[in-house]
Amino acid sequence: MALIRTKGLVIREINVGEADKIITLLTEDIGKVSVSARRARKNSRFSYGTQILTYGQYILFKGRNSYILDGCDIIISFYDLANDLERFTYAAHMIEMASDAASDHQTSSRVLNLLLHGLNALGKGREPLLVSSAFTMKLMQICGYPPHVTSCVSCREKGVEKIYFSSKRCGFVCENCAKTCNDAVPVATGTAKAILHVLCSDNPRVFNFNLSPENLESFSDISNGYIEERFDKKYRKLDYLKEISQVTYHLGKNI
Ligand SMILES: [Zn+2]
Repeated sequence: MALIRTKGLVIREINVGEADKIITLLTEDIGKVSVSARRARKNSRFSYGTQILTYGQYILFKGRNSYILDGCDIIISFYDLANDLERFTYAAHMIEMASDAASDHQTSSRVLNLLLHGLNALGKGREPLLVSSAFTMKLMQICGYPPHVTSCVSCREKGVEKIYFSSKRCGFVCENCAKTCNDAVPVATGTAKAILHVLCSDNPRVFNFNLSPENLESFSDISNGYIEERFDKKYRKLDYLKEISQVTYHLGKNI
């Protein structure tokens, strides 16, 4: 039986029975695949190699219903992110989006590369909202949905003074056209520059920029709104963090 060697990131792990695991690997060569890891919890090498957020070299063979793990070598583990609830939640959010975006082998490879750089930026202590928002916008570009940013996407006017963003129309719109779409939001100059930076940069420079807190909030809203419109899905993982921060805020006021 032919063995397959591929590099990949564990984006999901499920315990099965007393010793087995089923993992989902986002790979460089064969897209997103489900892998059965027999006795992975009884074998320390397999146990670490099949842990979520582990990037490694995997040897698989194709079974009847899924791939079967035959060997693994860890290249890098991002599992330390699990020690920080906020960063781990952002990582889980990015993984969910990456998993949805990994539609074919070629796209999966590019999505994997972006995700590895995003996790690395999270691990290095970069602002998680900035990393997640930049990741989202770049992901949309990789998936073939780059927003139109060189002129108003509706009337094609260039040199627009007041810029708005419309997820439904896929890009920047001018003030006049913004009046004719129900989802247009104003875009500050700093936010517009951040969007351009992300679209024009390759890894790892995608995550190398700074934004004021107000512009970062706006960039995040635009990125999230854009992926939710294109993928027709609501992403809820970050809601939990917002709830915690609101509770903490109210507790703080009562002390
Ligand atoms: Zn226009």
